Amino acid sequence: MNKINYISLTLKSPIRIGDVKPNFNFLPTKNTIPGSIIRGAVAEYLISRQRASEISDFVKNIRFGFFYPSCNSDIFPLSLPITALTCKNYKGFKSLKNGHGIFDSIIPLIAYEELKNTYGAKFPVPFTFTCPKCESRMDRFFGLYIKKNEIHYNINIDKISQTKVAINRNRKVAENGMLYSITALKPTNFFVGKIIGDKQKINIIFESLMEKGIGAHTTKGYGKISEIKEIQCNIEPIKNRIVQFNEKLKRIWNEILSIAINKKELPKEPKAFYFSIDLLSPTIFTNNGIPTLKLNISLNKTKFKPFIFSSDPTFIGGWSTAWGLPKETTYGADAGSTYIFKIEKDFEDYIPQLENVEYNGIGYRTDEGYGDIIICHPFHKEVDII
Ligand SMILES: [Zn+2]
Repeated sequence: MNKINYISLTLKSPIRIGDVKPNFNFLPTKNTIPGSIIRGAVAEYLISRQRASEISDFVKNIRFGFFYPSCNSDIFPLSLPITALTCKNYKGFKSLKNGHGIFDSIIPLIAYEELKNTYGAKFPVPFTFTCPKCESRMDRFFGLYIKKNEIHYNINIDKISQTKVAINRNRKVAENGMLYSITALKPTNFFVGKIIGDKQKINIIFESLMEKGIGAHTTKGYGKISEIKEIQCNIEPIKNRIVQFNEKLKRIWNEILSIAINKKELPKEPKAFYFSIDLLSPTIFTNNGIPTLKLNISLNKTKFKPFIFSSDPTFIGGWSTAWGLPKETTYGADAGSTYIFKIEKDFEDYIPQLENVEYNGIGYRTDEGYGDIIICHPFHKEVDII
């Protein structure tokens, strides 16, 4: 049976995640591991066992998710939504020594948009966010976080650079004047991700990663794994997330309504249900064949356009190990992008379909981890600065 398996990796050595770039003297690293790299390790393992013919059958119907750095081996970290804001002067969660905190602005924006544009609310002052601690302006906050015992933590990413001497392949001695620098991630973080598919195959994936390592330069000692394990999902069921999202909206609606000049003419609470689709990994979708940043979805045969959305573009490349060539570059919407949908009817009718969307992902190349989404990102509930 197919299911979502949450997997945690503990690293023994630095890891470099990057595309192969010939003739480059500086090799940077990415901060997350795309699913294609995990899949590549499995292919390499099967080839080394003379089982190359099994590869295409093995990887069929498996979604190799992105693996994200986490400061806790048992918690799947989430990308903060694009709508998360922090104090411009003292960035970061309050758990950080000098952080003034982070909160999410989407629920207040939904209430404000609806009250102002749908119902004609009039407000005495423009709608802005300031830091409650120092009154400075708010700024976007990028990155991953985890929540443990009700406390939120940013994930810090430590890097290390090492200079290496290139070896001439013919003469097997140092190539004159050829130094190159590898930047890698220090093994201070764990990497946690999802592999969606047949549970029977997980053991082979574990064996592959333990033996082959992960990322680039594994023959030089990079990307070695000391432990790999399955962990419990730390995310609430969809229904709870949607209920909590709408309850929070009700509260904020009331607060914003109370400052409207014409509040007596306005509805006391929202008249529809709202839910968000949030991207956890870069997502490639098109509209009539053209890449777009706007996500439209179909639920129960009805097409929905986002009521509000906020997205960032990102370039998506890749390396085809089969062909030894770069993959076609395209662009997509980056992790953190958020899309708000509005439904007039009871949302419960849509839950099975939303579960499917979350399970299958959205757009192209979902088998490599692109298009990993979450319905009603739990961070949207954090409307009070934390
Ligand atoms: Zn502040």
